Amino acid sequence: MLTPATSTNREPSLDELRQWDREIVWHAFTQMAEYEPLIFERAEGCTLTDVEGRQYLDACASVWCNVHGHRHPRLDAALREQLDKVAHVTSLGSSNPTTIKLAKRLTEIAPAGLEHVFFSDSGATAVEVALKMSLQYWRQRTVPRPNKTTYIALADAYHGDTLGSVSVGGVARFHAMFDPLLFPVLRAPAPDTYRLPPGVTRENALAHYVRQMEELLAREHERVAAVVIEPLIQAAAGMIMHPPGYLAAVRELTQKYDVHLIADEVAVGFGRTGTMFACQQELVTPDFLCLAKGLTGGYMPVAATLTTTEVWNAFLGAYAQSKTFFHGHTYGGNPLGCAVGLATLDVFEEEQTLARLPEKIERLAEHLARISQHPHVGDVRQRGLIGAIELVRDRQTREPFPWEQKRGMAVCDYARGQGVLARPLGSVLVIFPPLSITLAELDRICTTLEAGIVAATE
Ligand SMILES: *Cc1c(COP(=O)(O)O)cnc(C)c1O
Repeated sequence: MLTPATSTNREPSLDELRQWDREIVWHAFTQMAEYEPLIFERAEGCTLTDVEGRQYLDACASVWCNVHGHRHPRLDAALREQLDKVAHVTSLGSSNPTTIKLAKRLTEIAPAGLEHVFFSDSGATAVEVALKMSLQYWRQRTVPRPNKTTYIALADAYHGDTLGSVSVGGVARFHAMFDPLLFPVLRAPAPDTYRLPPGVTRENALAHYVRQMEELLAREHERVAAVVIEPLIQAAAGMIMHPPGYLAAVRELTQKYDVHLIADEVAVGFGRTGTMFACQQELVTPDFLCLAKGLTGGYMPVAATLTTTEVWNAFLGAYAQSKTFFHGHTYGGNPLGCAVGLATLDVFEEEQTLARLPEKIERLAEHLARISQHPHVGDVRQRGLIGAIELVRDRQTREPFPWEQKRGMAVCDYARGQGVLARPLGSVLVIFPPLSITLAELDRICTTLEAGIVAATE
């Protein structure tokens, strides 16, 4: 009997792949009416290769998750070895040596005091877990505080795309549509060091933003379970960088007012800011630390929510007391993912990834200093190996380009033509490469973006 030529029994042509990609695959954060397929088939180090063999140097680390490059022999081997043992076991009532070892390792490298690990599968779920654990903690601790059912989050925050994480998120362009579904939260201003409120200077910005947080906490703490923040940098908001000291000050305030601190390090964790975790730069231990993206070097969807023994203990009891955390994700703690997670941490040690960052950070700073001279660059900012270039129409007034002109995208389109892959955040160009990037690759990313700025702002 003849079998019809379906997609299952022959390789599709490139044209078919493109057509299916345009017509069947619904891409994340993508206007499908305008989508032009960009199909990568393989990668090596920091370079991705598309189906036609064109190569692109990746300036955005596959949107902030790749750490040690692609096809890293150590990571590839870890995955293969785990595959020879078991691909998946459930974390509902059972475990696996690889998963256990990753949990232990995470507690060893995390800020002291974070001694327990709940695994899930994405940044959004890592945040959801923290939100739910915090609320449940207040309800069932020895002296319950059942009124603590709301959260303080920052303006322009981004914590993922599930409804809980969108509720604490504050990017209007993404979130306004879903408003009817969201729970209300209290909002503190984004401690932005470029777009400052009237009368506030870079010098007094820290005091200003801390005072606003304190006013909010002083007024509302009785009903607040937790303050949720992206430590040091609000990534999706446009790499908004907080004044140094803000994180430590918020930690102090949350302790003073008996409120949890949830640190969402999904973007900034795993070496991005120069230290393993951003919280470590201000010697902060949050009550919850949310990790994802870089946790597996950008290989597998594994996320973790770390917390304290104080929180853990509030969930202990006989089953009938119903203190259990009734929450789980089928693939939470997946052994394949955890194997790569462990290997990612091994590579940090073996390759001295953190010790080798300062010269890259320095080089990025040199490029940014030069690029900052351009008349349409309003601000350059950097923390560790995260760089941002904000394009403006007018440097003096900081007036932005009209958003519909898509100037950031125009620069990235130019760069793509030159074989450099970057993703803008509106008018903000982002340099967020794998930590394994070489100095020469970093040079190429920066000079290409610079040429793109010249081309796109004429
Ligand atoms: C990307 C991101 C998330 C969401 O992570 P997903 O794995 O995409 O769900 C949450 N918080 C921050 C700070 C992020 O950058």
